[in-house]
Amino acid sequence: MIKPSQSGRLIVLSVDGLRPDIYRAAEQRLRFPNLNALEKLGASAESVETIYPSTTYPAHATMVTGVPPRTHGIYSHLASLDPTEKARPWSWFAAALRAPALWDVARASRRRTASLSWPVSAGAAIDHSIPEIWNPTAPDPHSDFETPARHSTPGLFGEVAKRLASLRGKADPDKLRGEAALYLWNQYRPDLLLVHFVWYDAKAHSFGPASAEALTALESADEAIGKIRDAISTDPATALVVLSDHGFLPVEKEAAPLVAFVQNGLFARGADGSFSLRRLGTVSAGGSLAVYWLERPSADDRRRLEAAMDQLQAAGAVQEIIGREKLEVLQADPDAELMIEAAPGFTFSERMEGPLVNNSPRDRGTHGYLPSRVGMEAMFTIVGCDIAARKNLGRISIQQIAPTLAKIMGLPADILASEAKPLDLR
Ligand SMILES: [Zn+2]
Repeated sequence: MIKPSQSGRLIVLSVDGLRPDIYRAAEQRLRFPNLNALEKLGASAESVETIYPSTTYPAHATMVTGVPPRTHGIYSHLASLDPTEKARPWSWFAAALRAPALWDVARASRRRTASLSWPVSAGAAIDHSIPEIWNPTAPDPHSDFETPARHSTPGLFGEVAKRLASLRGKADPDKLRGEAALYLWNQYRPDLLLVHFVWYDAKAHSFGPASAEALTALESADEAIGKIRDAISTDPATALVVLSDHGFLPVEKEAAPLVAFVQNGLFARGADGSFSLRRLGTVSAGGSLAVYWLERPSADDRRRLEAAMDQLQAAGAVQEIIGREKLEVLQADPDAELMIEAAPGFTFSERMEGPLVNNSPRDRGTHGYLPSRVGMEAMFTIVGCDIAARKNLGRISIQQIAPTLAKIMGLPADILASEAKPLDLR
């Protein structure tokens, strides 16, 4: 048997928002043949416990660093705590990471890296990089090609776009990503290729995690996974990982905590009706919402926040109020005063006007809840030489992924700040 462990190459495909039971369900197995085939060929987690809040950017940062948000510094998807801001910037830039990522470890070992739409990778030390980034004032982020082009490795975006020109307007974002990934792999022969698929997550938000629309979107990612597996099937030194960042739950009601904050005077309102910050900042993760004191609060401010919480609880929107102590246990945002965990069926928006609860929300699915919540599980499966077939890894922590991947590539895992144990894949 060939031992690839000294020079193993790796392709990591992240299918955003994919809960393992979605493709494992008996009636879906034929529809997602590649996801299911990988589980027979390799080792898979029964489920992956993600981080809090269970959202894309903090989770992807954990996947490549092996440490929780409190250590890597990406506490949410947003880089702004101001909900009155019109177009809020996201945490696109790798410079915000306070822990070494896999790409840093690979570079230190003179290994070549490539990435496609990976969250929190803009400006990272990656040899061939097309990051996920958009202009927050653009009407449709999926159609903003100028911003990622500007932040990509010089010339790379145009080069890939030229190769995909015939698919323009005919293919969904994940089909394009699949083709672009194959191009990067064949053209540049990286030792590590990271790819982020987004279409299932987009449709699961709009229509629900098990909706016909979301499942149709997932077919694109499954097909891309199959093509990439075929492309490396004769290469014993390459392992393929398919994973996700969090699960998904259906939504029936939208609650607007900021409506209660406004009613209790925690935001200022100008003569023209526009809102502005007072002492409070917020970030909604859908299934949870973080609240920040931007200045030291007075006793009166604290009473107002408590009154707003009482209102939300009376409306049935709150599962739990998570204070600083529990946020520390969860290794979540150290700057938040508290996080509000939404009750089952609820999502939190940052709407500031209208009713406290809206019974016909725009979105039909969300995440961002506690990682222990049923439905928030992520998935992980790996195939390659030296990796056992049909192996069930049980429930794993998302923090184990980076040290495991470093080990497979033969990289010195001690450069990572992770304390998590690599998975036993044999
Ligand atoms: Zn996500």
